[in-house]
Amino acid sequence: MKISENGQELLEKFWIAIEEKGQPSFKASGGNPEDFMELKLLGLIHNATTDWKLTARGSVEAGRAIRRHRLGERLVADILQTENEQMEEQACRLEHALVEGLDESICTLLGHPVFCPHGNPIPPGECCRENRTKVDRLIAPLSECKPGQSGQIAYLRMSHPARLQKLMSMGILPGGQITLLQRSPSFVFESGYSQFAVDEDIASDIHVRLKI
Ligand SMILES: [Zn+2]
Ligand SMILES: [Zn+2]
Repeated sequence: MKISENGQELLEKFWIAIEEKGQPSFKASGGNPEDFMELKLLGLIHNATTDWKLTARGSVEAGRAIRRHRLGERLVADILQTENEQMEEQACRLEHALVEGLDESICTLLGHPVFCPHGNPIPPGECCRENRTKVDRLIAPLSECKPGQSGQIAYLRMSHPARLQKLMSMGILPGGQITLLQRSPSFVFESGYSQFAVDEDIASDIHVRLKI
């Protein structure tokens, strides 16, 4: 479901008022009329005169939005170690980048935090319930991919100019799609409707942003 950034911010306010403070409903004066309308059209909230309530689906989406926000705060505070004043602003930008799936990787990376740096609870995700310990890597060298795995070329290792030149002459460039077909006797991959066979050294120079 695509919810605008303003819509997500409003959902977070709903979550805090209703789920955390136990208020029965949320006042229309608590946000922008257009944002209320968006959430209503998506079936996430319903109204009773000037007050609004979350629907069942709205409650799920609001929990996810607040989870992304507070995970973003944890990420900024724990990993990027940003000063307090800037934390909120950076976390706000980050939360919208934590698309489906990525929030679970970040959560696992941070050890499934239960509270944000302000002490507010972070609603658990699938990863917390399964107590996942392994983070699926977001970027891996092609030499460590499995046959059939595909993704986008994130970057090429620059340390061996001759190998880099060979790749570039084959049209292998960052941003292109790539699929590994086989690993032995040589690494065979497909990119841009062509197939190429390279040795392991060259395959290890190609870093792939994996589909998650
Ligand atoms: Zn917080
Ligand atoms: Zn988790």
